[in-house]
Amino acid sequence: MEIIHLSAECYPIAKVGGLGDVVGALPKYQNKLGHVAKVVMPAYETKFFRENEFESVYDGWGKLGFQHFSVRIFREKTNKLGFDLYLVHIAGFTDRPNVYGYADDTERFLAFQIGVLDWMAQWEHKPDVIHCHDHHTGLVPFMTAHCNKYRHLNQIPTILTIHNAQYQGQFGWDKLNYLPPFDLWKAGQLDWKGAINPLASAIKCCWRITTVSPSYLEEISYRANGLEALFARERGKSVGILNGIDNEVWNPTADAMLEKQFAVRTVDNGKKANKQALCDVFNLDASKPLFTFIGRLVDEKGADLLPEIFNNALWQHKGEINILVLGSGDPQVEGRLFQLKDAFPGNYNAYIGYNEQLSHQIYAGADFLLMPSRVEPCGLNQMYALRYGTIPIVRRIGGLKDTVVDIGDGGFGICHDQTSAWDVGHAIGRAMELYNDKKKMKEIRKFMMNIDHSWDKAAQEYINLYQI
Ligand code: ADP
Repeated sequence: MEIIHLSAECYPIAKVGGLGDVVGALPKYQNKLGHVAKVVMPAYETKFFRENEFESVYDGWGKLGFQHFSVRIFREKTNKLGFDLYLVHIAGFTDRPNVYGYADDTERFLAFQIGVLDWMAQWEHKPDVIHCHDHHTGLVPFMTAHCNKYRHLNQIPTILTIHNAQYQGQFGWDKLNYLPPFDLWKAGQLDWKGAINPLASAIKCCWRITTVSPSYLEEISYRANGLEALFARERGKSVGILNGIDNEVWNPTADAMLEKQFAVRTVDNGKKANKQALCDVFNLDASKPLFTFIGRLVDEKGADLLPEIFNNALWQHKGEINILVLGSGDPQVEGRLFQLKDAFPGNYNAYIGYNEQLSHQIYAGADFLLMPSRVEPCGLNQMYALRYGTIPIVRRIGGLKDTVVDIGDGGFGICHDQTSAWDVGHAIGRAMELYNDKKKMKEIRKFMMNIDHSWDKAAQEYINLYQI
């Protein structure tokens, strides 16, 4: 089959969170199964775009309302990523350093979708599937179904994967003229609660919906930032497929970003060396357990509670615990996490920002990873932690519920029911007890590292789903 993945992110070209990891891995594993999976994404001003070789495969003009824009599409020449990569360059829209966060994000991602469809409409052959990821590509199912100029594409099945239903990309009806002409009787398929809602439109128009874990699919029927009723209505064409992880990128035996690589057999020494290196850099005490949080500092992740959780834990287990944070997001939370450094020198530190290499080093060097999420569609951090022998402490929600089993139930992680400072504090207490049981720690680490969360299985599940 030929599968076209459309996405705003793809590792290693541009990544903000899990979406980038998934789109950087799933196509590779689909190709390994003998299919032809390609990725099409915007050409941001990234290091990858500057430093790699591309050939131009398309030059054209697109139209967004009264504005015309030039589109140039580049193909990465070497196929070193394990899939064909196409970068869509739209002057004035995509040529910026960041993926999101601009006032005209609506226009940027609409121009991207229109540019891609204009290009695909000229292909002599048609792909078997267009696989859209999140709301940034959410108007594609509507446009292929109802825009006159894309009618050649309307027999191609469209799949929507929802990585996070919190973000929907809504904009006002005053921007309706941005869309290429379509049958106005179909305008209702763009609408949700009085706005044009790309995620809602994709849910209505796509042939199949997937969520990134089975539990998340259950949860969005009662908690989906206003889309609950729509999800309940479209449940029949929805399925939850648990994300995998890219075992080649996240491989402690060969990870060049680590101080010391390690395997299941050498986990104790390997983690010790990585922990020591981290503690040296961040002025922490390597003889004490190291807890970490890695992620976007937003309410969804429970980040607003972290300063209180850390403050409590550092008092309660004074001198007996280390905490290291890596994250960025809400400026207020960033500020409070930064300030804590002064209160607990030698036991607490924070790196505010995004740092891919440091994230690998922390997964390898930490003893425990905290994920007190309010919403977690799948969560990849806990799976990386498992692979690097770091015990996850998670709230039982979404994909965390599907991947972590509590030690009390014969499992390997520590689970709590609520996102509250009390629940997480209690979980940290349990982790401290576990840490002192060296034999059990060793057993659990070995067990976790052997769990297979690779993409092999999920890549095949997507292929099965495409056979509509
Ligand atoms: P989400 O997509 O909701 O942010 P996921 O758990 O699915 O959460 O994926 C998060 C990904 O982003 C992981 O690969 C994690 O290591 C990475 N990540 C998040 N924040 C940072 C950061 N500040 N520095 C480096 N990597 C980060």
